[in-house]
Amino acid sequence: MSVYQHITGTFDLLPDTYAAGGTTFHSTAAWRALEQHIRQLAIRFGFQEIRTPILEPTELIARGLGGATDVVSKEMFAFEREGTRYVLRPELTAPVMRSVVERRLDQKGVQKLFYIGPCFRAERPQKGRYRQFHQFGVELLGSPDPIADAEVILFMLEVYRSLGIENTKLRLNNLGDAASRAAYRDALQTYFAPHAELLSETSRKRLETNPLRILDTKLPHERALLEGAPKLSAFISDEASDHYEKVKSFLRDAGQPFVEDPYLVRGLDYYNRTAFELESPDLGAQSALAGGGRYDGLASEIGASVPIPAVGFAAGIERLFIALEAKGFAFAQPEVPDVYVLGLDPDSEAVAFGLTQHLRRAQLHVRMPLKKASFKNMMKEATSSGATWLVLIGETERQTLTAQVKHLARREQTAVPFDALLDFLTQNA
Ligand code: AMP
Repeated sequence: MSVYQHITGTFDLLPDTYAAGGTTFHSTAAWRALEQHIRQLAIRFGFQEIRTPILEPTELIARGLGGATDVVSKEMFAFEREGTRYVLRPELTAPVMRSVVERRLDQKGVQKLFYIGPCFRAERPQKGRYRQFHQFGVELLGSPDPIADAEVILFMLEVYRSLGIENTKLRLNNLGDAASRAAYRDALQTYFAPHAELLSETSRKRLETNPLRILDTKLPHERALLEGAPKLSAFISDEASDHYEKVKSFLRDAGQPFVEDPYLVRGLDYYNRTAFELESPDLGAQSALAGGGRYDGLASEIGASVPIPAVGFAAGIERLFIALEAKGFAFAQPEVPDVYVLGLDPDSEAVAFGLTQHLRRAQLHVRMPLKKASFKNMMKEATSSGATWLVLIGETERQTLTAQVKHLARREQTAVPFDALLDFLTQNA
């Protein structure tokens, strides 16, 4: 037992997949392959990568996401140092928007950005919910048009579809514009005020600070109360309704099924008009694979001098792994060497070391023993490395400048002159 252990809600990613506490943590090779898949797909859809700092000003996140949201009110890892307040980013939409506004990317026309990276939230850890987790997502900036919403949603779905995850459910709602939401907030407060004592403590708090979030409730008696509550759809302007209809029509044209959920509000304040969430039945309690929507007000909220219409989504990579496991996905395995080079005595070891570097410069993946051991143990290590070839150099090989080359699986051995080694290894692969 080591003195220090990882912080609860965080995890190590190791060269090999391991299990801990009922969860499988896949190898760094599997993570790299998955990230690479997402990157390539995003680029094919015309998104460009953005990387922003993990540290952001606390004020940016508080203003951007809204002070009454769970993330800001209780889940931020925030600290102060020499008068500056920092937060470990809990998401990337506000940071990306900060960067776009600061670097004036919006002046270059419509921007399609994607990101992959860690986020931090002080949530109660459980399967699929961590304190350090990883998100990928996109932000499409500079277009108020419904086609932009559809573009983002369809890319999101393609990530899952391209990996064989088809049994997802896309939920959609129209949140209307800021004025509709304000009017609806008032109407909800008026409706719930006489029922306040029937509400759970959480919902009672939300009634004060963020009444729309009451729609999120899973409690049956609150759901029943909601039946009689005013409906958000009654408050939505014709323009916002028209926008939503067009988004749905693009999705239908693309053959993309969806269900409309009038109770879908999303946890963060900045959304307007289109809101969506993607669920998987394979995730258990934490069923959300990804979520997003339009956030036309965010840029102004964080101080941009001109509004920047925007739409995007964020997805959890840990949950993508869980969904892939449920499908029996063949995850990428740690890379195995092409060649294992073994020098049998100290002088041969020096020759083997030189050959190793030479073969590596020629792009082969080459390993050699780095610790003295018996011949038997070195052979064992060579075999368990998974290498295709074993190159053996002893006294005779050194003197004749010819290596013994063994194909470990086929158990065939050939004598190959040093200067023909590279050609032999690459041509007989
Ligand atoms: P959100 O911005 O909260 O909608 O998060 C977007 C996506 O990130 C969710 O749909 C999840 O897949 C993932 N996610 C959010 N919070 C966590 C967390 N604490 N642990 C793991 N994944 C998370």
